[in-house]
Amino acid sequence: MVLEMANLLEVKDLKKYFPVRSGPLGFGRKWVKAVDRVSFTIAPGETLGLVGESGCGKTTVGRSILRLTEPTGGRVFFRDTEITALTGKKMRLFRPKMQIVFQDPYSSLNPRMVVLDLVGEGLQGVSPQKKKDLVVEVLERVGLSPEILYHYPHEFSGGQRQRIAIARAIILQPELLVCDEAVSALDVSIQAQIINLLVKLRQEMKMAYLFISHDLAVVKHISHRVAVMYLGQIMEIAPTKTLFANPLHPYTKALLAAVPVPDPDYKRERLLLAGEAQGGTDMDEGCRFAPRCPYAEERCHREEPPLVTAGKDHQVKCFLVNSE
Ligand code: SF4
Repeated sequence: MVLEMANLLEVKDLKKYFPVRSGPLGFGRKWVKAVDRVSFTIAPGETLGLVGESGCGKTTVGRSILRLTEPTGGRVFFRDTEITALTGKKMRLFRPKMQIVFQDPYSSLNPRMVVLDLVGEGLQGVSPQKKKDLVVEVLERVGLSPEILYHYPHEFSGGQRQRIAIARAIILQPELLVCDEAVSALDVSIQAQIINLLVKLRQEMKMAYLFISHDLAVVKHISHRVAVMYLGQIMEIAPTKTLFANPLHPYTKALLAAVPVPDPDYKRERLLLAGEAQGGTDMDEGCRFAPRCPYAEERCHREEPPLVTAGKDHQVKCFLVNSE
């Protein structure tokens, strides 16, 4: 696939900090750095996979980009517009260009609305007949029959509900679709159907995706590039083939070691993750992965490694990786 070079989305030093009370009487204040200086780009038509364990901040990244939650710092550009600087009405006018599909189609669809109104809700200034025509068209595009127009969400399976959620997002013809664990709640066979649908829609509508998931196997299938997050920071980012063939960060290696491999002769470095990600307010010093890293050296606990370029479009945040 040949991608246009100009960025559709540019995220620079994005931060989202949450305050927590501290001190013996609870009067002090510290910050949990859920997203801490995250930067990446997405080209038109490109899919960037964002992976990591639950709680690593990937969902907060997606929500901050769309300003469903306000970032604490950093800047987000959509083409030439800085969307982090847009206020009220201007941001509302911008929203159709960037849509989101959530993990749980049960709670993301209003149970009291029929499909016609759910899918057509974002259409502004169109006649009832035009709205119906557009909804029917988009339902067919996501593999659903026009006969469901007057049915309610509870009448559908999880996979069908997610198709309705996708129809609702794409009817506004966005250029960027954020898929936040969009297939995680579905059975494996249904997951494959929805992934294939997303690939088809990407080709037909030339959309870019930020595909957020904890599941590396799913991310591998759909992404052109993958960013690996750990405790609020990107640890490694590379083209998908490079990342899976030549992972360089110890955390990426550990995540890949946990993915089942169909070829029994294939030998992969076994690096198992011990313990749990230790987030919290005391993460200012050192590498965030150090408490779980089998290669951690003394300086890993007191200095933060820089994100260095390790190959074409390949960046890694680890002292063991030399920059090119
Ligand atoms: Fe492990 Fe040190 Fe690299 Fe962090 S910087 S991943 S602790 S070796």
